Amino acid sequence: MRITSIEIYKANIDLKERFKIAIMEVSTVQSIFIKINTDEGLYGLGEANPSRVVTGEPQATCLATAPDLAKLLIGQNPLEVENREKNLSSFLARNNAVRSAFDMALYDILGKASGLPLYQIFGGDNRSIETDMTLFIAAPGEMAEKAAELKNLGFKALKIKVGTTTDLDVRRVSEIRKAVGDEVSIRVDANQGWSPQTAITTLRLLEPMRIEYCEQPVAHWDWQGMKRIRQNIKIPIMADESLFDHHDAFRLAFHECCDYFNIKLSKSGGLHTAMKIDAVAEGAGITCMMGCRNETRLGLSAAAHLVASRPNILFTDLDGHVYHTEDPIIGGAQYNVGEICLPQTPGHGADVDTTFLKRCEKITIE
Ligand code: MG
Repeated sequence: MRITSIEIYKANIDLKERFKIAIMEVSTVQSIFIKINTDEGLYGLGEANPSRVVTGEPQATCLATAPDLAKLLIGQNPLEVENREKNLSSFLARNNAVRSAFDMALYDILGKASGLPLYQIFGGDNRSIETDMTLFIAAPGEMAEKAAELKNLGFKALKIKVGTTTDLDVRRVSEIRKAVGDEVSIRVDANQGWSPQTAITTLRLLEPMRIEYCEQPVAHWDWQGMKRIRQNIKIPIMADESLFDHHDAFRLAFHECCDYFNIKLSKSGGLHTAMKIDAVAEGAGITCMMGCRNETRLGLSAAAHLVASRPNILFTDLDGHVYHTEDPIIGGAQYNVGEICLPQTPGHGADVDTTFLKRCEKITIE
């Protein structure tokens, strides 16, 4: 099997409400869709959901680098995933989001060629997956009201965006805890918004509110700060923006900076490295979460297949599409409140509506 052409799409979708976290605010999802075509009629689809402030890639950077990555793959065998990953990573350092789209499309072809859904290719068992729901930064009362609505809808876990001031963040979490009672799990994510001292002060005040864990309390580079927080509070710490690949995973584990890892395909460069991160984590006794950015159900489906195949990925935060004004994905992972049902079709099972693709700017490499 040979790759004959690759289509690159600029996929923009408006959000129902502004995505506001400690380090950024956006109102439109800016993804890239990649379609890899082969001489046997099979094709694979992948999504990049880049971030200026996390992966350092605006969408324009992805559109500039994707054609060069595509040229490397033309004429090559897509089933030799290891070799194709090497082609991509040895040509372009970092730029993990754009590489993740190619990675996802290659695994999609592997699944389709084998006639198996991705979770089976990875040796998984279609176990039940339950995602949390994220609440963006807003006034404490507004967030508490939304939390109560989500609880009434049946969600069992909420991820609360914090990372502003101690006073406001403590009010946010305390009003939400009051609104949802004790049965709902609450996780917080500071998105690098605190200094180590603010994190220690704030998290000590949050300790009695039964917080499952705190994601990325401090700047992505401040590993010592993260370690100091971990040594001074009881709430487990999860690395997110500090963790991109298996090398980061090894160093974070070796230096005992955190209790948990948040794996995201847009940070790891795709499924290939995500599996390596999980392997390092398992070796170090660290539990993982599979997270997301603002992906459509295309990227989320690929991530969900990996969750189903890796018992060490115990937490799931795959709600990126929930606030989108449209869902252009056909098939793929289906959502029933917080429960994610994986498709049994070969590959990741997600396709993109052709009427949506026709509206997108497109570059074709042959
Ligand atoms: Mg996070």
